Amino acid sequence: MAFLTGKTKGGKDWTPAFIEAIDHEKCIGCGRCYKVCSRSVFGPLDLEDEESESVRMVMSIVNDANCIGCVACGVTCSKKAFSFKPMAA
Ligand code: SF4
Ligand code: SF4
Repeated sequence: MAFLTGKTKGGKDWTPAFIEAIDHEKCIGCGRCYKVCSRSVFGPLDLEDEESESVRMVMSIVNDANCIGCVACGVTCSKKAFSFKPMAA
């Protein structure tokens, strides 16, 4: 399958990998991805834990149409909570 590609400044092919999901089991709500994303893709979400009946903050995808597939969020996440996917051309 062919994927959407662009070019780097040096003229090499670049295949963007777009945000697919955040694994809320892994996310600790540190906010690093929120800070690094220049496209306002993320927003905080209060997640209820049914077992402990507590609420914890995790990161959620609120504007995935803005993603440019740079993968900076995935690089900065120490919990490896992200999954990405290239776009079919
Ligand atoms: S960087 Fe990872 S652990 Fe931190 S808020 Fe984002 S998804 Fe969650
Ligand atoms: S891949 Fe880049 S643009 Fe897309 S959500 Fe992550 S940091 Fe933002």
